Amino acid sequence: MANLILILGDQLSHQLSALEQADKDNDLVVMAEVYDEASYTNHHKKKLTFIFSAMRHFAQELEQDGWRVHYQGYHPDNPEQSLEGVVARLAGEHQPEKLITTECGEWRLHSQISQWHERLGIPVEIRPDTRFVCRKEEFAQWATGRKQLRMEFFYREMRKKTGLLMTPDGKPEGDQWNFDASNRKKWTGKPPAPAPFREEPDAITRDVLQLVNDYFTDHFGTTEDFHFAVTREQAEQALEHFIDFALPCFGDYQDAMSDKEDWLFHSILSPYLNTGLLDPVTTCEAAVQAWYSGRAPLNAVEGFVRQIIGWREFVRGIYWLHMPDYARENRLGNTRALPWFYWTGDTKMRCVHKAVDATTRNAHAHHIQRLMVTGNFALLAGIKPEEICDWYLAVYIDAFDWVELPNTLGMVMHADGGYLGSKPYAASGKYIHRMSDHCQNCHYRVQDATGERACPFNALYWHFIDRHRDNFANNPRMTMMYRNWDKQPDERRQAILSRGEWLLKNIEQL
Ligand code: FAD
Ligand code: SF4
Repeated sequence: MANLILILGDQLSHQLSALEQADKDNDLVVMAEVYDEASYTNHHKKKLTFIFSAMRHFAQELEQDGWRVHYQGYHPDNPEQSLEGVVARLAGEHQPEKLITTECGEWRLHSQISQWHERLGIPVEIRPDTRFVCRKEEFAQWATGRKQLRMEFFYREMRKKTGLLMTPDGKPEGDQWNFDASNRKKWTGKPPAPAPFREEPDAITRDVLQLVNDYFTDHFGTTEDFHFAVTREQAEQALEHFIDFALPCFGDYQDAMSDKEDWLFHSILSPYLNTGLLDPVTTCEAAVQAWYSGRAPLNAVEGFVRQIIGWREFVRGIYWLHMPDYARENRLGNTRALPWFYWTGDTKMRCVHKAVDATTRNAHAHHIQRLMVTGNFALLAGIKPEEICDWYLAVYIDAFDWVELPNTLGMVMHADGGYLGSKPYAASGKYIHRMSDHCQNCHYRVQDATGERACPFNALYWHFIDRHRDNFANNPRMTMMYRNWDKQPDERRQAILSRGEWLLKNIEQL
């Protein structure tokens, strides 16, 4: 045999660099479901189901396409429960010339694979992951010499590079790079939100559902009502569904939240983009085409494109530029443990309850719930970054370290000292009230900052502002908050701070 080609669970693309110039007759593709990867965190049951099922479907497609594939399905009695173990055994059995793989998406596994040539005694060729718009080296070059990195400037470079939403003379379509200002509407039930794309489980997915329910009982969430796409073809149908039914309103309601609707007008394409079932540029091109043909407005399409070639590429660049040190950052010095209600949803705070409940059922919550509800609360309450990061990594179907970590540690927790975002996304209950209908069904009163029924976000917000004066008072984007805080009568400030202290001490009872 010539080579072993290792394909990981988030590398399910037929154009994967590891498959380039391979010899279908002699090389052996290796894919394995192993305990070490399935349980390094408390992965949601739907996440495990999605990845195992998508892997099995991908292996089947490769075989139908003439590849030789060694696929190890999960069983607790399998002798090899790590990727290294599986590769070591196959290398011993087949004596390949080398192992070929595409660089993986997280530092943990990357550092293991980088040592395999020594540990296993075979040459290991690690090829770049060509499924992103911006290569790691290109990002590093762009970042060189910049004290703070701003997504907006990076995004413009990516627009020019891809030509997405650019006029033939090199200008942004609509004469504006960013239409975010038009994307802040509250959703009041109209227009109705479309039902999400559904793919009913086939025989392969049903086998995996059984397996996950048998062997991963302790993991977070439920497998009930699993309806994600698990093949490239189905993921493409999910993209079409989004473009037809949700994209026209994606921009307007991008920041909205609702007590009644889980998915609103979001695309729910992140699991497919992150595992390689969808290609990011082709996905954006499909959305841009919808604008050219008059099926979606520019503010929606630009917003969608910005999330994918802007934010998604930007956070990946930051991850690889700063790992492994980035994961240890805690510049606000947080020490508090993650409250248990993040796992149970058992809290009287309606907005948090709804976000955790959706997460438990769907392995998904949309961006504003992640950022402004569960994220905002963790920021205000001073939760340890490693605990909140681990939670996000476990509970979402789209969570892979390269994208989860910078979003949580950088964007939400501001634990990198503002490298990723110029100001923390800290907000009081007022923001949640403005963007949702949660407050009207809540035990707490959003208009109050003190008193037993006062919204916890209010006093915690001012407590955060007050205790981090040294960190933020000189930030020009925060001056107004400090001015507002400082002009409150002393008595009022003391009452709010005492309420904040009480909330922090009694956090598990909120
Ligand atoms: P849409 O709202 O429809 O957006 C379209 C696409 O844009 C997404 O599919 C996604 O690929 C991309 N995108 C949007 N925002 C971001 C972003 N901030 N970073 C990277 N890509 C983005 N996204 C993940 O893919 N995996 C994660 O583990 C993850 N963890 C997050 C943790 C926190 C604390 C926060 C605030 C955000 C996180 N995000 C993560 C980003 C974002 O919330 C999800 O990508 C989005 O909710 C996925 O749902 P969607 O496909 O319906 O997205
Ligand atoms: Fe959330 Fe406060 Fe509104 Fe309740 S009142 S839903 S806790 S923001």
